[in-house]
Amino acid sequence: MSGTGTAPGPVQPYRCAACGFAQARPISRLRVATLCLFDDARFPGRCVLVLDEHATSVEELPLDTARDLALDTRDAARAIRTATGAPRINYAAFGNIVPHVHVHVIPRHGPWDAAPQATAWDHPEPERPLETAEAERLVAALRRALAAADAPRQPQRASTTT
Ligand SMILES: [Zn+2]
Repeated sequence: MSGTGTAPGPVQPYRCAACGFAQARPISRLRVATLCLFDDARFPGRCVLVLDEHATSVEELPLDTARDLALDTRDAARAIRTATGAPRINYAAFGNIVPHVHVHVIPRHGPWDAAPQATAWDHPEPERPLETAEAERLVAALRRALAAADAPRQPQRASTTT
């Protein structure tokens, strides 16, 4: 828990003032994006990484932002592997429904994975929520993994309107 970052305090739920895209279970703010737990018991530790600023497509991001988003995605995936023991990570960014840049980061191929070759979207198991205690355990484990990796993190946002 040393190095570049300030101590991670509580993180406000993410909500984009421009488009209303919201995530209820934030884990940590990274360089340009907020890592949030995605409530899906089929893949414990599944996350969504949400760009802090409103933008609708990766290819239109300024170069520095695009680079930092890629680094945040890498740090998120490494933390998810550490926290869950997942041997593989799936990445997905569609933009078909939500007009705000976000990346799904999904732990795969562990003992929880009933259909390792299927994507989360064509998986035969119906999506179901995590137990509350399990969600809290995963958030804590992911925060520990990010801290242990000394991943760059931003201080708590003053408000959720940015
Ligand atoms: Zn937005």
